[in-house]
Formats: sequence, C-alpha cells, structure tokens
Amino acid sequence: MKNVKYLKCIKCGKEYEALPDATTCECGGILDVVYDYDYIKKNFSPADIEASDNYTMWRYRPFLPVEEETVQPPLRVGWSPLYEEPRMAEKLGIRKFWLKDDGLNPTASLKDRASSMGVAKAIEAGYDTIACSSTGNAASSLAGNAAAAGLKTYIFVPERAPIGKVAQLLIFGATVISVKGNYEETFELSKDAINEYGWYNRNAAINCYLMEGKKTVALEIAEQLGWKIPDYVALSVGDGCTIAGVWKGFKDLYEAGFTDKLPKLISVQSVNTCPINRAVRTGEPWEPMEENTLADSISVGVPRNADKAINAIIESGGIPVEVTDDEILEAMRVTGRECGVFGEPAGVTGMAGLSKLCREGKIPADATVVAIVTGNGLKDTANGIKAAGEPIKLEPDIDKFRKVYEELNK
Ligand SMILES: *Cc1c(COP(=O)(O)O)cnc(C)c1O
Ligand SMILES: [Zn+2]
Repeated sequence: MKNVKYLKCIKCGKEYEALPDATTCECGGILDVVYDYDYIKKNFSPADIEASDNYTMWRYRPFLPVEEETVQPPLRVGWSPLYEEPRMAEKLGIRKFWLKDDGLNPTASLKDRASSMGVAKAIEAGYDTIACSSTGNAASSLAGNAAAAGLKTYIFVPERAPIGKVAQLLIFGATVISVKGNYEETFELSKDAINEYGWYNRNAAINCYLMEGKKTVALEIAEQLGWKIPDYVALSVGDGCTIAGVWKGFKDLYEAGFTDKLPKLISVQSVNTCPINRAVRTGEPWEPMEENTLADSISVGVPRNADKAINAIIESGGIPVEVTDDEILEAMRVTGRECGVFGEPAGVTGMAGLSKLCREGKIPADATVVAIVTGNGLKDTANGIKAAGEPIKLEPDIDKFRKVYEELNK
C-alpha cells in the first residue's frame, strides 16, 4: 500500500507492518493506520475524486488502506444523501443544517462502511469466514456484505437485539448466536470463539481497518459540501468507533491539503449510558456504566474504542451531550415529520443532542451543522410506534370516517 506507512499503537506508540489481519498491540492498545500524506498530496487532488464515477465509499481509495489489486466488495455502500434542511435550520436557530442519511446504505446503517472494508480486508488476507459481535447493526451489515462477497459469517448478538436486525442476519445466511447476556458478555464470547477457530475478526475496536471504512462518511460530507467543512458534526456514540472514524476522515482531508478547516464534534450519548462523554467531561479515565437506553445501538456500557473516541472529541474542541429516551423518541418524530427521514433511536440520537444544545443556546446562530442519521428506523418499528403513536382504528364505514374527519379538522 503506497498510501499507508504503518500501524501505530495509540497507547505505547509501537509500530507494526500493515498486515491485513493485524489486531491489537502486544500492550493491549488499539492500532491506528498511519498514512503517507505527502504521497497522497503528490498523487491525488479533490478534482481527481470529483471526477470518479464510482458513487460508493470506494471513490475515496486514495485514503483507504487497501492494496491496489484489492477488489471492491459487491454491495453499493456509501454516497448517501446529504439533505439541506432550511426549515429545520430555522427551527434550531442556526444558519445552515444538513442531514446525512446513512440509513440508506444496503443493510440500512452506517455500519455498512466498516463491513465493506472488513470484507475487502478478509479477502485480501485469504480468509473465507468472518465473525463479529454487535449490538445489531454491525452484525446485520457484516452478514449482508459478506453474503454478497461469498464469505461465511458467525455472528454473536445480545438477546435484546431488535427482531428486525436478527431477521436481517438470518436472511443473509449468517450463523447467529443469540447470547443470553449483555453486549459486554457477547463481545467476550465472540473474542474467545474467534481466537479458538481462527476466523477473520470484524470487531471494530480490535480491527483497526474498520474505522477507516467508517471515516468515509466524513469524506463524503466534505465532498458533498464542496470541500467546505461545517462548524459542527453531531452523531450518536456507543463503542466510539464511528466518532473516531469521522474525526479521522476530516483530519485526513486536512492533512492532505484537501480542506483548510476541521469541525467540532458533538458526541451524543444517553443520560443513563454515557461512559465516553462522562470521561470527556471529568477528564478522568472512563468507567463502565449500565446498559440502559432504548437506543440499542448505543447501549454500550463498556465502550471498545473509548480512547480513540475521547481523543477525537477533545482534539476537535467538541461538545459531549446526553439525552433521555424521551428526547430520542422526540427526535425520531421530528426527523420523520420535518425531513421525511425515519431513523432508528440511535440513528437520530445525534439529532436529539443537537436539538438540546440549540435549545440551551450552546450553538452560535451563525453555525453550520451536519447531523448524521446512523441507522434506519425500519429496523426497530416497535420504537417507531412508541415515538409516533398508534393509527386511527375504524370500521370500514364512511359515516364513521366523516365523524373522525370532522373531529380532526375542528
Ligand atoms: C453502531 C451504531 C452507532 C454507534 O457507533 P459506535 O461506533 O458504536 O460508537 C450509532 N448508531 C447506530 C445506528 C449504530 O448502529
Ligand atoms: Zn501498544
């Protein structure tokens, strides 16, 4: 890989050759992919990327850690829409607002970006089986992307995973282990099984390449805004791989001279489950918390990528903010009704946090802000109904309908 120098431990600084199945440092620290920005700068420009007719995350290959001959996996991941929402901007009291709808990926979450990368690297490394543990979306996205590429999957999910996500796994032909325990225990079981059976590891905190897939959401936001960087980017945070990836993406562009500014990250977690935000706020090392929010994708009490996430939030001069489950349900309604976008609870938690900060006057009125919708609401219809309420139930009788109509239009 001409664009990659090596992998570097974020804890002790030890450097490793960028092998496709590298995992963590011998000290236990997570590795980070270090790029040769001089090489990228010399050989690629924003215009080269704009000229690409590859409308997937793989249009950013100059910034991706893959060999030249590595084949792009088949599913169409990335290049999700960035909608400008002037009515929402007005409501929030900010100058400009955009919604990045990553629920429109093939398995309906941002996790497809990591899974597409994981599948590419597994094939590069010569594996035929890939495994992960997940609160749901990493699993369903791995299962789909692997199925399309002809790889086998072993997937470990906590038993609380919403049925929509489990249905996806089964449809994509994964071997699904529904673990009678929480996410933490699920993760540990998957780790032991992967060690024992030697599968390719798609656990985002262990496999440093996955974050490189996730960062493409930032590269896209930048390109879709004409390489002008917004003041803030708001998103939900669980393990912390997504927010660390978003930061890496914006930093890559900055280091390679494609952009001249970095955004501040708005890190949104649940009031009940916010170990990353709590660490940012107190400056103390992070401590485990209970898993207690209806936003299942960010119900992570023991975050697997806390260090990278905490660094990202602090380095960006970002804002940690916590929201209640009611505020998340409210964001589901508002995003649906104002923008026509149906996000799952964790999918709109970024939006919920942004709304809260705007209400509290913590975002300047001339700010430009992007909120990322990280997952589609069809995966979790039970919470959709909880947010939006039941339909009007009626006999097939026009007289009865007229009464209802009059009532509604009084
Ligand atoms: C995984 C996920 C997140 C959080 O990403 P992390 O990398 O775990 O911080 C947020 N929203 C959705 C929909 C997810 O699936
Ligand atoms: Zn180390």
